[in-house]
Amino acid sequence: MKDNYLRLNQLAVDGKTVLLRADLNVPILETQGTSIDMIDQRLRATIPTIDYLLSKGCKIVLCSHLGRPGGVVDPKLSMKPIADRLSILINKPIECLPGCIGPDVRTIVEAMTSGELVMLENLRFHPGEEKNDSEFATELAKLADVFVLEAFGTAHRRHASIVGVPNLLPSAPGILLQSELSMLGKVLETPTRPLAAILGGAKISDKIKILDNLLDKLDLLVIGGGMASNFLKAKGLNIGKSLVEDDGEQLAREIITRSATLKVELSLPIDIIVGNEFKSAPEIVKTVAIDEIEDNFMILDIGPKTISLFSKQLSRSKTILWNGPLGVCEFDMFSKGTKNVAENLAGLDAFSIIGGGSTASAIEELGISDRLGYISTGGGAMLEFLEGKVLPGVSALSQHSN
Ligand code: AMP
Repeated sequence: MKDNYLRLNQLAVDGKTVLLRADLNVPILETQGTSIDMIDQRLRATIPTIDYLLSKGCKIVLCSHLGRPGGVVDPKLSMKPIADRLSILINKPIECLPGCIGPDVRTIVEAMTSGELVMLENLRFHPGEEKNDSEFATELAKLADVFVLEAFGTAHRRHASIVGVPNLLPSAPGILLQSELSMLGKVLETPTRPLAAILGGAKISDKIKILDNLLDKLDLLVIGGGMASNFLKAKGLNIGKSLVEDDGEQLAREIITRSATLKVELSLPIDIIVGNEFKSAPEIVKTVAIDEIEDNFMILDIGPKTISLFSKQLSRSKTILWNGPLGVCEFDMFSKGTKNVAENLAGLDAFSIIGGGSTASAIEELGISDRLGYISTGGGAMLEFLEGKVLPGVSALSQHSN
């Protein structure tokens, strides 16, 4: 693991213009015409770094991507509502600029005074961002004296604002990124045992890679969500129309064998909630034992007996890593498994690290985040870190002070 990068307090920032690459890619839920509600955990998470930079008299040029506009301008994905919300949270004006590079943007930034903030428009409106185009990175770098990377959730992407800019400016991780890296690093190297992992969500092929690096360190592995369907199928059970990946059954079988060899306790659902359709309120919804799934039904959440089983098994753990929801938690009706297990974890004397956008959002709604240890803003980045990879954004950061 690379941790020889400069720390934020070693980067000379006093009075400088700082390009702060944050991860402000928050879900925006449009309600009633123009009013916009956002789940703003990611915005709040950036505030300590903003406060630190303001205390050093910096001018802050915030930037982030929002959604997937694919290199073209999409007004629905403007950073303006994000700038407005963040402005309320920090109680300071934040002007959203008309673009992210170019002479007009530069003129505004050059006129900024100490303690002012601006927000660049969505970085992914520009095709150079995702292509890591060197000219685009150079234009971004021209806006500032130093660069701070706060975007843990995007630090695994080789994009211009993640890996291009830190090659051109003195750089350091922000407070949030630093704490995510320290926290996850500790879990990999010196976890307080017993160590459990909960894996849910849809993509077994993504999650399986972390088990290559993690399985031999675990005492307990709990499987829920769409992941579980692959395991139940591998055990010869009928899973009806449940979501599985092409090679998911084979991958699950390998984990079952390796867990047994390594003496890792493997816990799978014993009952589940099934529906006849993939929608928020299917026509038929039932709770059934895992050997009672009918052909035209699909698994949408774990059942009440499984919630109790998982919670009891997890209660023996001291460190719990969780990535991916235990059911289709975007639909209220199928978010109980994720929410009830999270509530039970909040009551334990254990440190839980939870990652992944949909899991984090479901837990955010419960308002129990502060009793859970740590909610990571990055799903994919957390997985790559746990796979033992160095995140490209982190390896691009400066090693020597400016
Ligand atoms: P991932 O990105 O792999 O963590 O997957 C997150 C997604 O998994 C969420 O959008 C959930 O709706 C979805 N999910 C969780 N459980 C299931 C399930 N049983 N069937 C289908 N999708 C699921």
